[in-house]
Amino acid sequence: MKYRKLGRTGLKVSEISLGSWLTYGNSVEKETAIRVIDKAYELGINSFDTANVYARGEAEKIVGEALRKYPRESYVIATKVFWPMGDGPNDRGLSRKHVFEQLHASLKRLQLDYVDIYYCHRYDKETPVDETLRTIDDLVRQGKVLYVGVSEWTAQQIQEALGVADRYLLDRIVVNQPQYNMFHRYIEKEVIPVCEQNGISQIVFSPLAQGVLTGKYKRGQQPPADSRAADPKANAFIQRLLNDDVLAKVEQLEKVAAELGITLSQLALAWVLRQPNVASALIGASRPEQVEENVKAVDVVLSDEVLEKIEGVLA
Ligand code: NDP
Repeated sequence: MKYRKLGRTGLKVSEISLGSWLTYGNSVEKETAIRVIDKAYELGINSFDTANVYARGEAEKIVGEALRKYPRESYVIATKVFWPMGDGPNDRGLSRKHVFEQLHASLKRLQLDYVDIYYCHRYDKETPVDETLRTIDDLVRQGKVLYVGVSEWTAQQIQEALGVADRYLLDRIVVNQPQYNMFHRYIEKEVIPVCEQNGISQIVFSPLAQGVLTGKYKRGQQPPADSRAADPKANAFIQRLLNDDVLAKVEQLEKVAAELGITLSQLALAWVLRQPNVASALIGASRPEQVEENVKAVDVVLSDEVLEKIEGVLA
């Protein structure tokens, strides 16, 4: 495994991180989930991602249980707050009340005293940014959160938060968690430049476009029975990617990978990691073999010629 510094901090995260959306506590059996997390740890992955809302807290419980047997200093764990956790008016968002209560609920489920990274899962238009940042700053001062992150915030929202943090001397954002893969590249235009200027890294989610960039979904064929697309508990989000245009590009990309003697998933992960501002590619995995295949991407360096070829396919 290789490790990169997270933004302007001294923290190092593995180039591949493992997440738990739609998988642990949901479509993947607990015993398998723990085997996947163990495999990731064994292969040097030190960065694990979850959220209060994933399977309504069940994902946090499993990730916490799996990691508890390892020394706390050997892994970095991130969780998030924003999406509804109940039907009440204060069961969502980034208000002081919800953030404070949710962090404690997450710590309880994870069975931890602190999380390494606490993300604002989305921007909350209904709460002043200074209220949220001051609350997380309080949690940092209480030793319950080490680093502050945001997820899917725009460049303008990130700049607003930096301004507020500087004005009130609050802990600054050091990581953003956006979606980034060959088919979803909006961060390249504004988010990455603003983050680069301000010592903020990206830990990017869905780098394999939920498995589409492994090549296992084929034009005109049913999805493999053991895949996310075939699983009614998890397939709602992947459907929009399973169209002929995307799958035809995947076929071309598979050829590029084959010429390099690597798999498409390794090509896709090496491609997001070509960006120095990306600290880690945050994958999901439903079985240990997927992690084994994917971590090999850290040894792949893509030449300018290959990158041009990829641009040609994606154009
Ligand atoms: P990926 O793009 O890495 O897709 C992961 C899925 O692809 C796996 O669960 C598996 O699904 C399949 N897969 C992975 N590797 C292989 C392989 N080598 N061969 C075949 N299939 C493979 O990421 P996700 O979309 O799952 O997101 C990753 C993480 O990012 C989440 O767990 C979560 O922690 C985070 N996330 C954050 C969000 C946010 O708003 N901040 C939103 C979404 C995700 P299967 O085997 O079931 O087909």
